Amino acid sequence: MSEPDNIVSMNGPGETGKVEYSALSRDEQEKILHLQQAILESVAHGADHMEIINQVCRLEEQLLPNAVGTVMLMDDAYELLNVYAAPSIPPEAVAQLNNLRPGPGAGSCGNVVYRREPQFVSNAFTDPRWQDLRQLALNFNLCSCWSMPIHSGEQKIVGTFALSSFEHRSPSTFHRKLLEIGASIIGIVLERHKAQATLRLFEKAFEGSEEGFMITDLDQRILSVNPAFARVFGYLDRDLIGQTPKMLASGRHDAAFYEAMWQSIGNFGHWRGEIWNRRKNGEIFPEWLSIAAVNDADGHTTHYIGTFSDISERKTAEAQIEYLSSHDTLTGLPNRMLFKDRLENAIAFATRAHSKVALLNLDLDNFKLLNDSLGHAAGDALLCAISARLKSCVRDTDSLCRLGGDEFLIVLTHMPDAESISTVVLAMLEQISNPIELDGRDLSLSASIGIAVYPEDGDDFETLLKRSDKAMFHAKEAGRNTYRYFTEQLNTDSLEHLRIAHGLREAVTRNQFTLHYQPQIDLATRRLIGAEALVRWNHPSEGLIQPGRFIGIAEQTGLIVEIGEWVLHEACRQAVAWQQAGLPPMQVAVNMSAVQFRRGNVEKSVRYALEQSGLDPQFLEIEITESVLLHDMDHMLELIKNLKGLGLKLAIDDFGTGYSSLAYLKKFKVDRLKIDQSFVRDIARDLDDMAIVSAIVQMARILNLRTIAEGVETLGQLEFLSSQGCEEAQGFLFSKPLPPEQFEAFVRSTASIQRPEPDNA
Ligand code: C2E
Ligand code: MG
Ligand code: MG
Repeated sequence: MSEPDNIVSMNGPGETGKVEYSALSRDEQEKILHLQQAILESVAHGADHMEIINQVCRLEEQLLPNAVGTVMLMDDAYELLNVYAAPSIPPEAVAQLNNLRPGPGAGSCGNVVYRREPQFVSNAFTDPRWQDLRQLALNFNLCSCWSMPIHSGEQKIVGTFALSSFEHRSPSTFHRKLLEIGASIIGIVLERHKAQATLRLFEKAFEGSEEGFMITDLDQRILSVNPAFARVFGYLDRDLIGQTPKMLASGRHDAAFYEAMWQSIGNFGHWRGEIWNRRKNGEIFPEWLSIAAVNDADGHTTHYIGTFSDISERKTAEAQIEYLSSHDTLTGLPNRMLFKDRLENAIAFATRAHSKVALLNLDLDNFKLLNDSLGHAAGDALLCAISARLKSCVRDTDSLCRLGGDEFLIVLTHMPDAESISTVVLAMLEQISNPIELDGRDLSLSASIGIAVYPEDGDDFETLLKRSDKAMFHAKEAGRNTYRYFTEQLNTDSLEHLRIAHGLREAVTRNQFTLHYQPQIDLATRRLIGAEALVRWNHPSEGLIQPGRFIGIAEQTGLIVEIGEWVLHEACRQAVAWQQAGLPPMQVAVNMSAVQFRRGNVEKSVRYALEQSGLDPQFLEIEITESVLLHDMDHMLELIKNLKGLGLKLAIDDFGTGYSSLAYLKKFKVDRLKIDQSFVRDIARDLDDMAIVSAIVQMARILNLRTIAEGVETLGQLEFLSSQGCEEAQGFLFSKPLPPEQFEAFVRSTASIQRPEPDNA
């Protein structure tokens, strides 16, 4: 153990400094010269960097017999050393050297990085710097090891070059020079390799880029183009090289354009903008071009680089966006914005021609129901079919637009009079009502159309739109599948609408509602089985207002939730009061609006009403329309299940007017179907109505549901209903809805109704 423990003294002063050539013998100088020459030759022959590094190792091994050369490099994270080249070291030794973490015991190389200076260890078996690698030294008989840092271009230590000997020895000046030269050459080779890799990357980017690149000299002669450039223009490289970009000009820009461009390049070193050029096939196209001047170290321009992308697709996309923003994506019809333009043009034209323009506001009837029950894809298909039919009804000069949902606007131009407008509108209603085949079944639709006419009803889009909308609602109220013109009366109606909406709020707080009860009769026994509670508004100045005038508005304003709760409480309270007064127990039916289900907490209200009144739930029936069930089915299933769990009954009101589906009647465990008045009205005469009613009754029987006919007014109706097996009825034939005290009297006087008289009411 000849080495002292003190490491600094091991390397000694001067050991880290560079060896001067003059310190070498002539023979040694020559050897080094030969080494350098051999490597220079390899470089000149284009040898690859790995080859050269291995060559350095081997040449140095020749100059230092009984030793092996190793190059180790730091990994990317700059944490561990790995063997990069070691042509004479067995792979097992390489494996053990890899992943070497620089540190005080990490051998000569680990210490070079750790201490940032050359390390000369002459006895690896005893030197503390080899502490961690001792076994390796013993296994492979590495007796001594000298290691030199390899620097990057920025003078950072990136690795080590080492000569390990199979004998204990210390380096002479010549040996140190060998290590220095080796490390320095390897550093340069690595640096050059890195630069080449970067250059290759740039080349790849240039070659592979989707953007076109062009390099020209000062005279704008093309020196080089990349494949994207040639591809976009449709030329081969060789067609372009040596030419000037003038050969690509489209002819769309004048001399001033190019002058301004070159002026910008001269002043600011670059230009950027949209420019039209010509492809080889003659087609001209827009490109986004950027030209930059390349300057040398002295600031003199030597080249120009042009980069461009073909923006014809973007331009097309822009046109597409323009289209999309002015059209409805589903039907391809103009949207409101574009439609407004067209209507305004039509008005301007009509003003000069003294003709009329009609704005039709068309809303499909019960479309939401269809959409909810058939699914949105089917709904979309229906909308497309309808829009195609509407198009077929109008002329080229007319316009059609979808406002959204199931609402369409149509402008009819050059209309001489109202009659010609009505003709088109009737044609539309007929077109719409023709069955539409969808997935193998025929669906029937209808629409309500409101009409506002220029110049009578207004001379701008907003006014006409508002008025056609009012007229459309009027058409809906009139029973749908029809049209209505705007009239001043409608304006008055909307005033009344406002008045009612306003008054209702007060009616709720002042408790101005009252319930009338309409008897329900079992047709077989002619006995009273129950009553439907129907709300009335006891208006302080107008007297009794029927629900038809305010329920819709109460729904719109949401007040129906509070009104509905009151109705429920009052009906339950009254039922119990009658029972206590000795009337025979009977069922009371309460109407519930879809809005209550959407906005209120129906389950809680019902529970509370039952609790408060003490009514046995079997005597309460809830009447809902089909649309209530179709909205948010899963939620409704849960809710109805809970309601029915309380023990009450469920009836479907106005049955047959919605999208009547068997599936949900079963699912929701409905108890009764109320056949809508509209079918009962003409049942004695109208064959269709007869067929519908008899179908409903049969279907109900199969599903084990009871049927009750609404609006029975005549004996003829009653007979037909009985003959079809309809079990129950309600209507003026038996009694009008009655105030509670009259209802009580009615019940007491007719505990059993044997022979109803038509004027009974
Ligand atoms: P609905 O539930 O279908 O009630 C039946 C309507 O038909 C009642 O009109 C009733 O007076 C009327 N009616 C009964 N028998 C005959 C008849 O023989 N001939 C004719 N032409 N009509 C008859 P009403 O009371 O004006 O109620 C209209 C609608 O208002 C009700 O239709 C119901 O949808 C709604 N409604 C009434 N009360 C309430 C309520 O408390 N809450 C809710 N949400 N809606 C209610
Ligand atoms: Mg009802
Ligand atoms: Mg009804």
